[in-house]
Amino acid sequence: MNCIFCSIAKKKASAEIVYEDDQLVAFKDINPKAPVHILIIPKEHIASVNDLTEINEPLLGQMIIRAKALAVKSKIARSGYKLVLNCGRDAGQLVDHLHLHLLGGGPLDGIA
Ligand code: AMP
Ligand code: ZN
Repeated sequence: MNCIFCSIAKKKASAEIVYEDDQLVAFKDINPKAPVHILIIPKEHIASVNDLTEINEPLLGQMIIRAKALAVKSKIARSGYKLVLNCGRDAGQLVDHLHLHLLGGGPLDGIA
């Protein structure tokens, strides 16, 4: 399977990684739509929200808590931010590996 985010998680493709643990990797979006634009992904390949089950509930919690921590670290927690999960073509999902967008650092009208 040729998945760019799996490659990033396995360090076979380069990315500016800002956080990593056993379950997750977070890295800067290559085409940022806001001053802060970080993607939080599971290391496990899960194609989209459509592929989540109850088993993944703790993972989703970890992704959101990590996004919050990265918002604090990026100094946007007080000014505000968006967390976005795009699912499927109509939502504009381009990479078929689950990823949570953390967007902030300026007005986000019309973004995501
Ligand atoms: P989505 O439209 O929700 O699928 O978002 C995919 C995001 O991944 C886009 O914001 C892209 O800019 C970003 N992206 C794609 N390839 C890379 C990459 N190699 N490194 C970092 N971000 C990427
Ligand atoms: Zn993948």
